[in-house]
Amino acid sequence: MRILIANDDGIYSPGITALAEVAADFGQVRIVAPDVEMSAAGHSVTASRPLSYKRTPVGGFEAYRVNGTPADCVALGAYHWDGVDVVLSGINLGSNLGNAMWHSGTLAAAKQAVLLGFRGIAVSAPVTEGEPNFDQLKPWLARVLELLLPDPDLALINVNFPDQAPHGLRWTRQSVRHYDGQVMPSKDPMGRQHFWFTVVPMEAPEPGTDRWAVEQGYVSMTPLRLDLTHEAELARAQERHPCD
Ligand code: MN
Repeated sequence: MRILIANDDGIYSPGITALAEVAADFGQVRIVAPDVEMSAAGHSVTASRPLSYKRTPVGGFEAYRVNGTPADCVALGAYHWDGVDVVLSGINLGSNLGNAMWHSGTLAAAKQAVLLGFRGIAVSAPVTEGEPNFDQLKPWLARVLELLLPDPDLALINVNFPDQAPHGLRWTRQSVRHYDGQVMPSKDPMGRQHFWFTVVPMEAPEPGTDRWAVEQGYVSMTPLRLDLTHEAELARAQERHPCD
């Protein structure tokens, strides 16, 4: 199995090394990741300037740093490596739960894999104080990959770890009820107004969702799809407003 590894934290993040070390037990690993942090880049692609890459040492793995976005890295990585089976993205330093999926560069790398015809798994861990305990997470990540990789129908999965030693694994759906993005005005040292886009705390999540599972101490696994079509609304619209 050929496993292309990407992330949005940049190629020198400790999370990508931890992911590659676990993934190496499941197949041939190659790392292609942004040369700088691209968190919250979403699924942007670089279309107005050329991309280039350089080989770079990362934990003994074959690794390349790219002057582009997470989605660029997957596209360029797949272009240079025939027969990629799956993209693993992460381990992101920070959760990608609920509405964070819309902005996540970590998830975008996995989505780009699906757009290109192979599978994608995004992996994120919360950051509270210090870095995630990767030694604690690694056996759980191995369990997740043992479960996900043999099933080809699981094309796109968003995996999130809790902030303590996990109690187990849970299949979840995306929490979409609450949005935590907020514009916060402030002033720079010269007294000029500027703005931070920040995250605000939210109320308790709905049972069965990704946010709920990690709050309960479980590893959350959410199967996703790229088709955003609202099937019920489509059927209703066709009935109420028939077109010519
Ligand atoms: Mn990130």
